Amino acid sequence: MSLNLSTKAKITWCPGCTNFAILSAFQKAVSEMIENGEVEEKNVVAVSGIGCGSKITDYLNMNTFTSLHGRELPAMTGIKSANPSLLVFGFSGDGSTYDEGVAHLVHAARRNSDVNFFVHDNQLFALTTGQATPTSPKGFKGKSTPSGSIEEPMNPLLTMLSLGATFVARANALDIENTKKIMQEAARHKGFSFVDIVQPCITLFDTREDYKDKLYNLDESYPTDDFDFAMRKVQERGERIPLGIFYKVEKPTFEEQLHQ
Ligand code: SF4
Repeated sequence: MSLNLSTKAKITWCPGCTNFAILSAFQKAVSEMIENGEVEEKNVVAVSGIGCGSKITDYLNMNTFTSLHGRELPAMTGIKSANPSLLVFGFSGDGSTYDEGVAHLVHAARRNSDVNFFVHDNQLFALTTGQATPTSPKGFKGKSTPSGSIEEPMNPLLTMLSLGATFVARANALDIENTKKIMQEAARHKGFSFVDIVQPCITLFDTREDYKDKLYNLDESYPTDDFDFAMRKVQERGERIPLGIFYKVEKPTFEEQLHQ
């Protein structure tokens, strides 16, 4: 990587944290796009909020903005609306996105705001040392659910499809190369790009073994423009968990219509 997209800030993630892999995938994705001439370095913006994953903006040597917990998307849409030439990325955790920030997620998806939103989904609030989030599995034992969660987890991809999101994907944090490719496809997509990145929290909820045999990549013949097929595919989340781009269509974006 010839571009230096790293700051000198001390990284405070646990040794071996899967956020290192997401950081690396993103730096590679952006670096290649800048080198290919797809975007100018000065036009890239990364937004985060609060949480382990959201520390990522401290470590990125580019335009960054740190917003409030769960409020990444209003900041991202505001930035894109004010200057549509910017390529806007956002990083948030599953607690921040699907709990505190869920209303913003709903409206960003239905508006088709032309921003790229990456959710570090480790199925718990990690920064506050292990409370349940909306994607924690039923029975999850954490600080807020010592006897096990009694709630069914939400399916973020199904929610996004039903709200009209125009780019819906799932990536595996530990597969840096494929995560990089999905991030780049999200960036090239005109409209709201949503990527749920499954990531074990190796300190508080180590799901590496569980994911090892379950995760698989969609094959190249997968029809990314078939909404009904995507609705069925994203509900496959048992013994096997598919990864890749489930749905991708073009529609007018919020910012295009706003400026008209
Ligand atoms: Fe990473 Fe989990 Fe440590 Fe947070 S608590 S830095 S998510 S390993």
